[in-house]
Amino acid sequence: MNIIFCSTEVTPFSKTGGLADVSAAIPRSLEKLGNSICIITPFYKFIDIQKYDLVLVREKIGVQVGDAIEFMDLYRGILPDSSILVYFIKNQFLYREGLYVDEKGIEYEDSAMRFIFFNKAIFTVLKHLQLKADIIHTNDWHTSLVPFFLKSEYHSEYLFKETKTIFTIHNIGYQGIFPVEDVQEANIPEIYFTEECLGYYSKINFMKSGILYADLITTVSPTYANEIQTKEYGFGLEKYIQKRKNDLFGIVHGIDYTEWNPSIDPFIKQNYDKNNINGKAICKSDLQLEMGLEISDKPLIGIVSRLAPQKGIDLILEIFDQMMNLDIQFVLLGTGDYALEKALKKKEKKFKGMCSIIIDFNNKLAHKIEAGADIFLMPSIYEPCGLNQMYSMVYGTVPIVRRTGGLADTVKNFDTLTAKGTGFVFDKIDAKELFDTVQRAINLRSNPKKWKKLQKNIMKIDFSWQNSAKHWQEVYRKVLNEKGQKKKKSV
Ligand code: ADP
Repeated sequence: MNIIFCSTEVTPFSKTGGLADVSAAIPRSLEKLGNSICIITPFYKFIDIQKYDLVLVREKIGVQVGDAIEFMDLYRGILPDSSILVYFIKNQFLYREGLYVDEKGIEYEDSAMRFIFFNKAIFTVLKHLQLKADIIHTNDWHTSLVPFFLKSEYHSEYLFKETKTIFTIHNIGYQGIFPVEDVQEANIPEIYFTEECLGYYSKINFMKSGILYADLITTVSPTYANEIQTKEYGFGLEKYIQKRKNDLFGIVHGIDYTEWNPSIDPFIKQNYDKNNINGKAICKSDLQLEMGLEISDKPLIGIVSRLAPQKGIDLILEIFDQMMNLDIQFVLLGTGDYALEKALKKKEKKFKGMCSIIIDFNNKLAHKIEAGADIFLMPSIYEPCGLNQMYSMVYGTVPIVRRTGGLADTVKNFDTLTAKGTGFVFDKIDAKELFDTVQRAINLRSNPKKWKKLQKNIMKIDFSWQNSAKHWQEVYRKVLNEKGQKKKKSV
């Protein structure tokens, strides 16, 4: 299969969250299954040409956006640990310091036009390279206009006649909703601004394009696939998702063991594995030292997270003092919402020496927390898939999660009688439930034999991409097999 994978972030070139990790890992695993795949992504200002050996393919390629022609330079690199070509689109719309927001954390004013340009440029790149794609795989709202443009503009061109699209919803909470004026320069005919099409309460909704027009939709866990069909989790798009429920598949991510693996991790003080976990204690003291915490055997709770309401940080703040009174240590690494950052910093002051809050994006420290903490806390309000709970399990760090989305699919409550289970799970968005669950975890930790058993359970789980890749392969086949059966409709 000839697959074009489009994403606005790809590790190691650019990253704000889990999308970057999986935009590298899914293509790698699909290549291993014998598919031909390449990636198309923006060229941001911070991407280092020398470091990644990027070569200029061609300068000044014209991209028609509305009445204007925008010029882009096309660069090419290789995704590490693969032979996958990555094409970088360089143009003033995308070539910025931030991926989505400026230095002050404010979304770029021309956000709508930035990504309209990117979606259009994807077609230009394919035409320029004469790449006949079987499938264009698009991810989240930033690339979700591809199915719409394919069906409205490009479907009759020779190169795209047979092309199918897959749209993956990584997070339905972010949809790309803009006033119609913001997209005026793109000259999208007004007939497409109705509620049946891209219109959304007098605005335009980019994610709707993926949901309505992709040949097949996936999301990142089976539970989330069900959740987004409900009012509670669908963020207003549930009725459109319901209509496409037969074309919707939930596939849990795997994790990349070349990056997240305590036996080879270069960032941690001492490597260890499931057969000999002793090194974990050394990683814990190393973390305590770095964070200015007392070196002790007190339970150490860790968090690495975007600081967004979605992640349940408010719940943690509600129980913070009570939780610290359980005689624990607490480490958090995160960036995002300013109010949450401030509230957390206040707690750090109050519990000086027991609690450390690092407002930063720091991959090395993220690895050290995964290895050094005893418990990983992830009480998300919603969580499409979540990677950190899986990373923590690989590092023998016990997850506490809320039963939602991918967390529900990957963590099962530990049963002290049968010694089965992989963490601690609570149901309601409720501070008391969260506190009780934290307490349950702390209690179990005072029983070293049971705790070790739980660590063994989690460290032996196979989260490799091979499992997910098989599902991806099935989904890709499905969309291609339906070729010919369904005549392609234009919009
Ligand atoms: P989401 O994609 O919703 O942010 P995930 O759990 O799926 O959440 O993935 C988050 C990814 O981003 C993980 O690889 C995690 O380690 C990383 N990450 C999040 N915040 C930080 C941070 N402040 N510093 C370093 N890495 C971070």
